[in-house]
Amino acid sequence: TRDSAKAFLRRNLFVLFTIGAVALGIILGFALRPHNLSLREIKYFAFPGELLMRMLQMLVLPLIVSSLVTGISSLDSKASGKMGARAVVYYMVTTLIAVFIGIVMVVIIRPGRGSRDSPVVTSKNIEPVQATDAFLDLIRNMFPPNLVEACFKQYKTVYKKIVRTRNVTVSLNFTDLLNGTESHLSVNLSKVLHTVQETTEETVPVSGSSNGVNALGLVVFSMCFGLVIGNMKQQGQALRDFFDCLNEAIMRLVAIIIWYAPVGIMFLIAGKIVEMKDLAEVGGQLGMYTMSVIVGLLIHGLFVLPLLYFLVTRKNPYSFISGLLQALITALGTSSSSATLPITFRCLEENNHVDKRVTRFVLPVGATINMDGTALYEAVAAIFIAQVNDVDLNFGQILTISITATAASIGAAGIPQAGLVTMVIVLTSVGLPTEDITLIIAVDWFLDRLRTTTNVLGDSLGAGIVEHLSRSELQNQDAELGDSVIEE
Ligand code: ASP
Repeated sequence: TRDSAKAFLRRNLFVLFTIGAVALGIILGFALRPHNLSLREIKYFAFPGELLMRMLQMLVLPLIVSSLVTGISSLDSKASGKMGARAVVYYMVTTLIAVFIGIVMVVIIRPGRGSRDSPVVTSKNIEPVQATDAFLDLIRNMFPPNLVEACFKQYKTVYKKIVRTRNVTVSLNFTDLLNGTESHLSVNLSKVLHTVQETTEETVPVSGSSNGVNALGLVVFSMCFGLVIGNMKQQGQALRDFFDCLNEAIMRLVAIIIWYAPVGIMFLIAGKIVEMKDLAEVGGQLGMYTMSVIVGLLIHGLFVLPLLYFLVTRKNPYSFISGLLQALITALGTSSSSATLPITFRCLEENNHVDKRVTRFVLPVGATINMDGTALYEAVAAIFIAQVNDVDLNFGQILTISITATAASIGAAGIPQAGLVTMVIVLTSVGLPTEDITLIIAVDWFLDRLRTTTNVLGDSLGAGIVEHLSRSELQNQDAELGDSVIEE
């Protein structure tokens, strides 16, 4: 029919545009490299890319809130409970598989073997975040005390050195003083009181905050809110309509911005290529480390996740993935899964026809907490740093790395290079030097793009899998809705 032909054309045209944009960006980038542009010039040049980033980010906040509230309030609480449980199981299982693949890769390839390539960086004496505090921060961020603040600030523990002084009264026995030799004196002068000042120094965690939207907090709030207004029957109708309409309106804005996306992506990629250091510098250990992460991500994204999708749904995973191309390329261009979220929504709903009740529910949650690529990278990076330092990790320590890498990936925000920051948690948990993060910074911008793409892929395949597993609940709900329409 004409409509579907039009949709087909539009979809393929977009994909074609986007792929063309990536190719053009790469060519343009390499063509400009020999001109040695200054950083300032590069920034001006990449401006159209920066604009795309800003436009997408502009939509993320209302999109997360409205899609979660409508998504959850449109399901009955039993259905959303089941769907949520399935999503969480999927997130945990795939993240742990990713960590496992990462560990296998880095243990086999051993990128950090041999003597240290890079000079030891002397410690800058910053207090590293303790794993316990990082875990608590994760939970704290789920309950933002101020919703408006949660739109631009996250809670983050910082440390403060506190010196306490107190007066201590010490009483001494006079006899002790005289060593007991002239104990007859002690009869009258039995005690001497003495006051001393005692100081203790302690680093204590105090509250702090860092800039950036607290997506986790907003997700938790929106889910609870959606659940509540979903149960409010007739009374909640006005709010349900409001958020539904808001969501619809945001998605229409996405449909406009999507036309600009190829241009933005082209400049994001070209700008980064002009800016990047000479590839020749990335040899030796760092090159091998990069390889380990890339191979791990490829195995996870191209084989493991598709296999899982196939096993569950019995449908062709690669045709599902082809519908996601634009989102994947946007992730590559922006290195932010949250900025990509609007496009991910569109790809899943328009191209792959995933039920909106599923996408609205699981995509915002996935973009916030499900990061397979990040988890894989954190495990590889931590073990790489251990290898460089000639530290032999035992099984327990590798297990600790798996757990903290998973936690670090949940805690990482979906913004560029967030994973590099949460890396500290993994390193401190096994006592590795946190300043060694500097060893891997040079290639992080590149790995960040690849892991973000893997993250988005994992979220999207997850939506497909959850939809398949929840089909009976969805059909029940459809039937109930149908009944109520007839009754009316
Ligand atoms: N940039 C990644 C993302 O948005 C997070 C990370 O740094 O690993 O998914």
